[in-house]
Amino acid sequence: MSLESFDKAIFDLTNKELQRQCDYLEMIASENFTYPDVMEVMGSILTNKYAEGYPGKRYYGGCEFVDEIEQIAIDRCKELFGCEFANVQPNSGSQANQGVYGAFLKPGDRILGMDLSHGGHLTHGAKVSSSGKYYESFFYGVELDGRMNYEKIAQIAEITKPKMIVCGASAYTREIDFAKFREIADSVGAFLFADVAHVAGLVVAGEHTNPFPHCHVVSSTTHKTLRGPRGGIIMTNDEEYAKKINSSIFPGIQGGPLMHVIAGKAVGFKHNLSDEWKVYAKQVKANAKKLGEVLVSRGYDLVSGGTENHLVLLSLLNNDFSGKEASNALENAGITTNKNTVPGETRSPFVTSGVRIGSPALTARGMKEAEFGFIANKIADVLDDINNTELQAKVKKEVKELAHQFIIYDRAMY
Ligand SMILES: *Cc1c(COP(=O)(O)O)cnc(C)c1O
Repeated sequence: MSLESFDKAIFDLTNKELQRQCDYLEMIASENFTYPDVMEVMGSILTNKYAEGYPGKRYYGGCEFVDEIEQIAIDRCKELFGCEFANVQPNSGSQANQGVYGAFLKPGDRILGMDLSHGGHLTHGAKVSSSGKYYESFFYGVELDGRMNYEKIAQIAEITKPKMIVCGASAYTREIDFAKFREIADSVGAFLFADVAHVAGLVVAGEHTNPFPHCHVVSSTTHKTLRGPRGGIIMTNDEEYAKKINSSIFPGIQGGPLMHVIAGKAVGFKHNLSDEWKVYAKQVKANAKKLGEVLVSRGYDLVSGGTENHLVLLSLLNNDFSGKEASNALENAGITTNKNTVPGETRSPFVTSGVRIGSPALTARGMKEAEFGFIANKIADVLDDINNTELQAKVKKEVKELAHQFIIYDRAMY
């Protein structure tokens, strides 16, 4: 029986969500549109298979084909990042990070990560996350100019003596200098862990510095700039570390791997290895740059003044409306973003003085600088007259027309 006839409620809601994804301009920096072939294998019979363990070392029979699938995913992942070992089983970026901590740390050990309110991630030691509950966490941040100050980070490391330093961010617009972080880690005898969840797609295209060979261990999501299925990965060049990471993921924190998603990762990695990928990654950066330039020309402030990656952070410290009001107005105008804290934040984390705007998803739909310039002007129009709901409705129509020129999924239901 088809889903449509068996479960109309879920079928209809999925199609509504498809319509929303087609009609709105998706500019949440952590989102993307994955490939139909990735979705095809994710929706396959591979979901039926239990395969606890790793290729060649499973706890169940009948794993000969999923073994090959996982090995292909591992090999492609290693090739992409230029590293020796990869674990492709983490169900998410957060679980990848939990796996990394479990491999290298004991409860109570010290970690030093980027402050959530400065662009870091919950899993880098925030108190509400297990990373901040099980480990003693300390933080570095960015300066008022929106950039990391590596000398200051070195001083904080010197004072806090962490066992592990975490670098990587969810809202940072500049390149991360992994070599500098390694110097800092070495100076205090710490492990260096890079979480490239946000910039991985740029890294594998050579559009952002590679965390290898500088970092001892690297994690990423596969669904953000990598444009693959929702999931996580962990990589290293050290065999002993790799063994610890593997047992930390299974049996440490996960059970049977999601073989359908691992197959999706393999297919996604094949896209990432192609020549077209380099074109995509370059365009992602060019589009974010264009977006930032037009916003600045319209009188808006950007954290750090611009961008070197896939996102811009609009700073509203000098405006009389907040990040929350701005992202709500943009949502009404058909443009999906998220509010974000900014350096020198004066408003609460629920209100904020920033908006994070990313280019990966719309670039996946085929948009280029011309469209990003048009969109940036629409964003400025809406913000210039933030309470004008008529204007928001008008922009929403224009935005929908633009979106429909860049169709990404042609089937009603995947
Ligand atoms: C998104 C993100 C994660 C978490 O990924 P999930 O798949 O949502 O768990 C971890 N680290 C960073 C830096 C991220 O941006």
